[in-house]
Amino acid sequence: MTVPDTTSVLTGDQLIGTRDVPGAGEEFHAVDPRTGERLDPVYRFGVAADVERAATLAWDAFGTYRNTDQETRAAFLEGIADRIDALGAELIGRVTAETGIPEGRVTGELARTTNQLRLFARVVRDGGWLGARVDPAVPGRVPLPRPDLRQRRIPLGPVAVFAASNFPLAFSVAGGDTASALAAGAPVVVKAHPAHPGTSELVGRAIRAAVAAHGLPEGTFSLLHGGRELGVALVTDPRIRAVGFTGSRQGGLALVAAAAARPVPIPVYAEMSSVNPVFLLPGALRERAEELGRAYVASLSTGTGQLCTSPGLVFAMEGDGLDAFVESATAALAGTAAAPMLSAGIRQAYDEGVRRLAGTDAVTEVARGGDDTTIACAGRAALFVTDGDAFLADRSLQDEVFGAASIVVRVRDHAQLLEIAQAVEGQLTATVHATPEDHARAAELLPLLELIAGRVIFNGWPTGVEVGHAVVHGGPFPATSAPATTSVGTRAIERFLRPVSYQDAPAELLPAELRDGNPLGIWRRVDGELGRD
Ligand code: NAP
Repeated sequence: MTVPDTTSVLTGDQLIGTRDVPGAGEEFHAVDPRTGERLDPVYRFGVAADVERAATLAWDAFGTYRNTDQETRAAFLEGIADRIDALGAELIGRVTAETGIPEGRVTGELARTTNQLRLFARVVRDGGWLGARVDPAVPGRVPLPRPDLRQRRIPLGPVAVFAASNFPLAFSVAGGDTASALAAGAPVVVKAHPAHPGTSELVGRAIRAAVAAHGLPEGTFSLLHGGRELGVALVTDPRIRAVGFTGSRQGGLALVAAAAARPVPIPVYAEMSSVNPVFLLPGALRERAEELGRAYVASLSTGTGQLCTSPGLVFAMEGDGLDAFVESATAALAGTAAAPMLSAGIRQAYDEGVRRLAGTDAVTEVARGGDDTTIACAGRAALFVTDGDAFLADRSLQDEVFGAASIVVRVRDHAQLLEIAQAVEGQLTATVHATPEDHARAAELLPLLELIAGRVIFNGWPTGVEVGHAVVHGGPFPATSAPATTSVGTRAIERFLRPVSYQDAPAELLPAELRDGNPLGIWRRVDGELGRD
């Protein structure tokens, strides 16, 4: 499909409402992590005036955009998806050049991104997100009459989105945070990730074209480039009312602190660090140790380990199959080829993390993946082994090493496994490998795992996140700063909404979704009963 108003021309500008605004701050380039080559055009960080302008426009747009009808908003989301799809090979080529992610994976991520936008369009049309409830008045109730109370959800206000480095499409400018905020009726100001500015500009221009084509106010979307100063200025701007972030624990916590220190604090939905523990129970180890070893390394090396769901810790009980599992994983990992990491900074942080583990007395390095000196930012997988006592004694072994490094922990017995499950900090995922003979042990483990993780996986691997209605991509700190939510899937819209009640409101002042006769035909709870009346 061709949508005429898309463009693949890059100018290096920020997109503030309808204007192309060159940054007046520090100059930077995208760099191809495969070759180290600088990519055109030159970009520059924005300054305080750019944040001010984008936030003002977003606030001005809020009144109109939040009151768009469901069909207009859904068609807008679909319009963004169509325009991003229309960029096709141009966009895929730019993502590959800026991130080193292979074309096949980028193609899949592009489809996931536009499917996600279309999924949110369906969510908007469905209207369930409005959370409409009607408790009709009971004038004759004794001892006191009951008032007429009606409830719906409205958007919090303009949302600041911090794009992630590792999913340059699906968690970036038009990723899950942006899609769910726009679906909720919130204008969005994105701070692009500095590692992929060209990708950000292409996608940003597609969103801006959709804003214009659907007759929406210009401040519905803006895209800024910048460093930490600009990020903090955005989070502390009084017109910004919520923040979506994916990245490091340190970065997420800095933004949580900045938001909490505002005169009017706001929520920050930060997805940060997770090492995604995997628990191998004795029956599974006995039945399929070698296969588990190979599958573990395949999951670990996906995306050069730069996935928030990468399996960084494996807990396996001493007994039949454990040695075979370690041998199989060691051989598989030693056979992995080096691959480009996303940026020089991320590669450097990875190398430091691997050095720290290798230098830890109770930890043994058992394998390294191949090297490739022709790749500028080559990432080499690394496998370590320790035991349960050492793991319990050293909390730093739980720290995320972002990349394809992982530790196998040899656990003495079931009691130690349960102790470990209680000592592990908050995670996006926890995985259990079990055969039917393990189910009694798994039944003891599961209540502990659901306390630490947003998603519990059986007999699979944590990498690969479905975008749907039942998925949770969230979890207790430090996986996220807001454990009651998810950043992937249709529930993500709830982060940017809040409920409002209307008591004894005159009929003509009520929003359509709360009027008698249900003119929008949406699902509502009337006197507690769910229906479409
Ligand atoms: P990052 O350093 O946290 O940066 C993410 C965004 O937040 C960037 O726009 C960054 O701007 C901004 N930022 C970071 N610290 C900030 C601060 N103190 N104040 C204001 N803004 C701040 O993450 P990254 O660049 O994507 O990757 C670095 C590390 O993040 C990785 O090594 C990994 O540990 C982690 N990571 C985790 C996940 C996950 O899902 N768990 C995903 C991606 C990355 P600047 O670039 O200007 O600093």
